[in-house]
Amino acid sequence: MPVTCVAKGCENKPKAFCTRIFHVIPTDVEWRRAWFDAVGLPETPILENKRYMVCEEHLTKEDYFEKIQHSTQTMVRRLEKMAAPSLFCKQPKDENNWQRKCY
Ligand SMILES: [Zn+2]
Repeated sequence: MPVTCVAKGCENKPKAFCTRIFHVIPTDVEWRRAWFDAVGLPETPILENKRYMVCEEHLTKEDYFEKIQHSTQTMVRRLEKMAAPSLFCKQPKDENNWQRKCY
């Protein structure tokens, strides 16, 4: 099943060659509740997690920290514990204004 970002008004999908990060909703009970609250969806069993992804456009810079991945010696971005999506499109219908697409 194709997965789309579940945030309101967002239709971003993970694509090949796209650098946008997609996050699966966390498995930690409190944390995932915060995510479902943030995107306005009812909570679902963890088994269904894969159907719920949120793209990085709904998270702020402060929601991430960087660390070195030792196996590849590259910097990777990780989510801060309990960081939840907070940026949502205000005008879901107005494509020109808000929708950044990935090409
Ligand atoms: Zn999104």
